[in-house]
Amino acid sequence: MSDAKMAKINKFTRRELKEDEVYTFSVILCDNEIDRDSEKFSVDALKKLAELYVGKTGIWSHDPKGENQTARIYETEVVEDPSRKTADGEVYTYLKASAYMVRTDSNADLIREIDGGIKKEVSVGCAVSKEICSVCGRDRRTGECAHRKGRTYNGKRCFYILSSPTDAYEWSFVAVPAQKGAGVTKKYGGEHSAQKSGTHDGIVEKLCDDLKRDIIRLSFLSKDSAPAAIIKAAIENMEPDKLLEMKQALIGTVDDGSTGELEKAFNHSKEKETDPNKSFRV
Ligand SMILES: [Zn+2]
Repeated sequence: MSDAKMAKINKFTRRELKEDEVYTFSVILCDNEIDRDSEKFSVDALKKLAELYVGKTGIWSHDPKGENQTARIYETEVVEDPSRKTADGEVYTYLKASAYMVRTDSNADLIREIDGGIKKEVSVGCAVSKEICSVCGRDRRTGECAHRKGRTYNGKRCFYILSSPTDAYEWSFVAVPAQKGAGVTKKYGGEHSAQKSGTHDGIVEKLCDDLKRDIIRLSFLSKDSAPAAIIKAAIENMEPDKLLEMKQALIGTVDDGSTGELEKAFNHSKEKETDPNKSFRV
């Protein structure tokens, strides 16, 4: 970890922490894809949320120990993925957050869970002041329009573009009952286009990095595998589902008991509140 990173983290701490006292990880908080509620964030909204989320605390809501299990966002970044387009043709853009936890005895297990790839959902809440209709461009907060999200008008799909965020609330991890093996391929297996932004991967980078590391390790152990350098180049930009498939295939060629448990997938999903004060739980 760089000194610059530690300096950012230490802006939020009561005393100056050393590198070995903190655990850091990344999560994807939200993106500009049209979700299953026929809503999407504008890229400007993501940029504003990036500011609003710095310093915000996340909790592991499943954990009875509650407040000991918190993480704080110390850095955010709006990232463009030019290889992917949203359903309405924008460059796929997401809000990535880096968070830290202070290592304690009580969260050692949790950190192992994150490292080990336990399945989780990330839930974030925020308030936006504008909902723009994609068909007519009116702000639905200041006046009705004739269009309903999810419907199609003269071939044009209606969705609402969430813009001008005014506040970002808490974010949280919710553990999902992990079904070993099952669910993984269903989650990622070629369903990216169908899933849209409804679900995507929290801590996805960490998952991919872990999978890549395992694949390289397995390729050394496997008699049937291509040389590690070739494997490494091949998996550089591979999607999580493909990485997982590859790892599983390699596990099949290695039988020395060193492969450990199969990876469980991360899962990021959005839920929204439809309460009248127009908060979005995303
Ligand atoms: Zn409209």
